[in-house]
Amino acid sequence: MAIRADRSTCAAQAAALQRWEAPLQAPVELTPSTITAQPELATRLERDGRDDALTSLPSRTVLLDRHDDAVAQASQRGARVAVVLCDLDNFRLINQSQVHAVGDELLMAVARRFEAVLRAGTLVTRLGDEFVVLLDDVRAVSDVMRIAERLLRALQEPVVLAERDWHVTTSIGIAVGAAGPQLAEDLLRDADTALSRAKHDGKDRYALFDPTMRAVVTQRLDLEHDLRRAIQRGELRLVYQPQVALDSGEIVGFEALVRWQHPIRGLISPAEFVPVAEDSGLIIPLGHWVLRHACWTAQRWRAQHPELVIAVNLSARQFRHPTLYDDVVSAISETGLPAHALVLEITESTAMDDSAASTRTLANLRAHGVRLAIDDFGTGYSSLAQLKRLPVACLKIDRAFIAGLGESADDEMIVAAIIGLAHAMGLCVIAEGVETAWQYERLRALGCDWAQGYLLAPPLAPEVVPGILEAPRAAAAMSVPSSSV
Ligand code: C2E
Ligand code: CA
Ligand code: CA
Repeated sequence: MAIRADRSTCAAQAAALQRWEAPLQAPVELTPSTITAQPELATRLERDGRDDALTSLPSRTVLLDRHDDAVAQASQRGARVAVVLCDLDNFRLINQSQVHAVGDELLMAVARRFEAVLRAGTLVTRLGDEFVVLLDDVRAVSDVMRIAERLLRALQEPVVLAERDWHVTTSIGIAVGAAGPQLAEDLLRDADTALSRAKHDGKDRYALFDPTMRAVVTQRLDLEHDLRRAIQRGELRLVYQPQVALDSGEIVGFEALVRWQHPIRGLISPAEFVPVAEDSGLIIPLGHWVLRHACWTAQRWRAQHPELVIAVNLSARQFRHPTLYDDVVSAISETGLPAHALVLEITESTAMDDSAASTRTLANLRAHGVRLAIDDFGTGYSSLAQLKRLPVACLKIDRAFIAGLGESADDEMIVAAIIGLAHAMGLCVIAEGVETAWQYERLRALGCDWAQGYLLAPPLAPEVVPGILEAPRAAAAMSVPSSSV
């Protein structure tokens, strides 16, 4: 079980903590011995020149060297050694979008912030945008967690560089060593596993390693391995969910949604495998396939229904990939789909990334005639100023707000505000997750343009779509759930 903290504790954490602390002595004040303050180590660092030129922190080699001594000394004192691995969440983005000097200065500033909240002499090393803290006198796991909380708090205030505020956060993985001998590599690997959990759970938090996490990592690696083969073996397919104009009830387009027919596990939801594809980079070949396939299928349907548009989801990594523009242009030219019939759906956070490369990609796609929609709108942090600048055609109201229609006055207000905002900016609005006739009518009364959801139709296998399109009204689609996927 992972122990996470949003800077608060909960009953589950307390229980896990108890389990962790059982073999340890009663909590006492943590006193990590002053490794870098030891004269012989300081001399060694100087002699070997192994400190990090940028931050002046000792290198990871020093950490590995010191670990074994620290374990031996700790066990004599009835204590343990812990590794606290901090990975800066958004550093890569900042570094890619700015001149390198900003990235370097940011790393230096973070190093100083971390040092300031750690006891003098605690060993901190750096590798890229990761900082490793070695604690060598751990009496209670709760003390390590408190240190992790201090490291998170150290970055709460923005770093001011080049007359700008930089908000950096860190995810932290903690591994507390066994009572006996152990390898530094094992402790680092466990901290890295816990770090992945902290990132997966939303970043800007810490997670404490637990052996069950290893099984999760193995499962994930298996899934990644199978997914690689799935793309080659043609196990992926697309289903299409109709989008309906609220005023006329006509189908105006479809959203393409990917499915994976796993040979052993059966149908796997994109909610499970798209994040794995995103982390591993497999999203690039997967997205390439989705884009071509969706454009090709939609263009066939357009022969009878030339007004139809097709919406394709793009993940953050796809969006930042340097070949995106060329991929989109070649997909539409090879399939014959007119550019204006393609809508690319990106989430708010992806769209708000204001790096020069992303802004250029958006502008180029728009100039080519491709339309962009902001997916899950309302769940992220959009700046209105940025929204105004972006070449976006549609906002898709997140289904959480639609579910609240008629139940939460706040949600109703938010939906009305998004529709008003979108129309004031000349954008169209799609409501997703429409499940009841009441929601449908309410959205129509509020002036929403399009709707998508189980009420109208679930995502459909492509074979049944032509039949649905022949039905006089989208409402007819409701009678075909048996062919849905
Ligand atoms: P999304 O883009 O927000 O897609 C809408 C999701 O809501 C779909 O889940 C759809 O099946 C589901 N849905 C539709 N109508 C309703 C409704 O009335 N009620 C409820 N509760 N849900 C409804 P799905 O197909 O499982 O996809 C999940 C997510 O996976 C998508 O969320 C999207 O972020 C991602 N995804 C799916 N296909 C692709 C793809 O080809 N590429 C990428 N990058 N991501 C994809
Ligand atoms: Ca979507
Ligand atoms: Ca969505």
